[in-house]
Amino acid sequence: MDQTRPDPIPNPAVRRLSLYLRQLEAFKRKDRRTISSKQLGESLNLTDAQVRKDLAYFGQFGHPGIGYRVDDLISRVRHILGTDKIWNVMIIGAGNLGRALMAYNGFDAKGFRLVAAFDIDPQKIGQRHGPENRSLLIQPLSELKATVEKLGIRLAILTVPADTAQDIADEVVEAGVRGILNFAPVSLNVPQDVATTSVDLAVQLEQLSFQVNLPPVGAKNHF
Ligand code: ATP
Repeated sequence: MDQTRPDPIPNPAVRRLSLYLRQLEAFKRKDRRTISSKQLGESLNLTDAQVRKDLAYFGQFGHPGIGYRVDDLISRVRHILGTDKIWNVMIIGAGNLGRALMAYNGFDAKGFRLVAAFDIDPQKIGQRHGPENRSLLIQPLSELKATVEKLGIRLAILTVPADTAQDIADEVVEAGVRGILNFAPVSLNVPQDVATTSVDLAVQLEQLSFQVNLPPVGAKNHF
């Protein structure tokens, strides 16, 4: 694969890679061996030109007259996304949201293994949460740095209240974390070499309410 990247890859193209991967995995489950950019695009309401353009950022994938080999494209997209290896992930904040994520079974199959959980609340520290076969012990923050080093953790999920999220982000970055999935409703300042993605459920519901609230096409003076 061509690893040279003359232009920065736009974030929307990277985001669509995850959608392509999910779709390709669905095609594989239906025993599809090959797929064209048109079919892949149609399944996601995208044009075939968009699919080809996105994939072209990462190298030459298709085979003339065949399209893409599903297996081949899945492994290449996983490689690009870095999910062809297992990432050890920790959770900070074992409140309702944190505990729900600890109970969630969908991470492992995608290459993410929850390996540690931390909280500041003495009532929670020492408890275990999650499915029996992989439940996590809630640890105190004083053990964070040593645990990150011992388990080689590079990704953290923050499910702490907004007013503590920046302090915790600083702490996990200092410990060696390079990617943060932030569920706290606040923007984080992190060094340039650290990636953050925010999931603000209320903001996302707000976007939906805006869309659903839009006037029907052709209507006037709605607002
Ligand atoms: P619960 O009712 O179980 O506390 P919650 O979802 O209402 O859950 P939040 O106030 O949103 O709790 O806090 C989420 C979690 O983050 C809690 O478990 C809380 O103890 C923890 N927490 C708060 N501050 C910190 C901190 N500085 N470091 C680590 N964890 C923290």
